[in-house]
Amino acid sequence: MVLVWDPRFEQYDLGPDHPFSEAYRGLAVDLFERSLDASERERVEWVRSVEPASASTLESFHGGRYVEWVREVGAGRATVMLDQGDTPGTPGCYEAAARIVGGTVEAFARTDAHRVPSFNPAGGLHHAHRDRASGFCIFNDVAVAIARPIARRRRIAYLDIDAHHGDGVMYGFYDDGHLLDIDFHEDGRSAFPGTGFPRETGTGDGAGRKVNVPLPPGAGDEALLPLFRRLVPPLLREFRPEVIVLQHGVDGHAGDPLVQLQYTPAAYVEIERTVLALADELCDGRLVVTGGGGYRPESVSRVLARAGRLFGRLPLPAPDQATPTAWCAEFFEVTGTVAPDRWAGPEPLPPSPWRAQDEEALVAELERHLGTKFPLADQGGGWTGPEAPAGTAPEARRST
Ligand SMILES: [Zn+2]
Repeated sequence: MVLVWDPRFEQYDLGPDHPFSEAYRGLAVDLFERSLDASERERVEWVRSVEPASASTLESFHGGRYVEWVREVGAGRATVMLDQGDTPGTPGCYEAAARIVGGTVEAFARTDAHRVPSFNPAGGLHHAHRDRASGFCIFNDVAVAIARPIARRRRIAYLDIDAHHGDGVMYGFYDDGHLLDIDFHEDGRSAFPGTGFPRETGTGDGAGRKVNVPLPPGAGDEALLPLFRRLVPPLLREFRPEVIVLQHGVDGHAGDPLVQLQYTPAAYVEIERTVLALADELCDGRLVVTGGGGYRPESVSRVLARAGRLFGRLPLPAPDQATPTAWCAEFFEVTGTVAPDRWAGPEPLPPSPWRAQDEEALVAELERHLGTKFPLADQGGGWTGPEAPAGTAPEARRST
């Protein structure tokens, strides 16, 4: 696996009171790195220095006037709101945002060339549109990274498990059939950005290539996983992507302060394992993973660190394994709160509103809009103990 992390990614700083912080992804990278023994360390290819994407790279997706405006804001001395009030443009923001784009472009290039998973925890800024910032996202690193391959008519599958709909990516390629976009998120009737409904399936060449799976507030693994098992493998096998891109937001995790979904670490493990197996089966291991949203540092850091081990095909720690003392000290320094002393702990989950008939109703709605049938899928597995690396044998690769 290629891990892309330049400490300067943390210069993407929207202010001390802003909920989005790349420092939480920095804590994930720190925990991941401390978890590696000597032989594991050799199996991870690090990219620790990333240059900002050039204006011409940014303009493979973004409009030239927007790119120029952000450059002017970033060169100024004042903080300017880049959207309706969520996304401040601070001095230096242009270079910081462009560097994260550079990281995802680099991740994509390495995955493409070497047929290995790559991971940019700082990326996944999926709300930025061609001509505007939105939802804490100045430049859309995912959209920029896939724009040129799609223009060359390569087939890219984009999976988005962030709690918010990835509107910037979906609308950016809404009429393009070379992007299969599958997005699980909290229902747009209650959550930002208010889009991502089953009826939104793409237009023109893109018709039927955009799949939106909205979940109600309070839904958790019991809603997410059966739908993921039922929809994602058949859609990907039918589309046959050349590269899979996963936007791995962690804001659907139980306890996130901005979102009301209730996913657990075990759900993320099953999804990661399934996606890695599909990347091995369909595209020679070409899988690009980005971070994304996530506003609870305990969840973001541990889930993304463990994801790094899974995508690196390294054994997973048991949920009750202790986190390193030095990492706990770092966590306290960054967040001012006591670090979790285990890799995962019991999370109090409120009762879910989700019922079996909700799955049937949502699947029926998707089938009607997409003109495809989605039969019931097999049960999956969770994360209960130390695990063998995923994807080591064809049998083990099956998501069971
Ligand atoms: Zn989000």
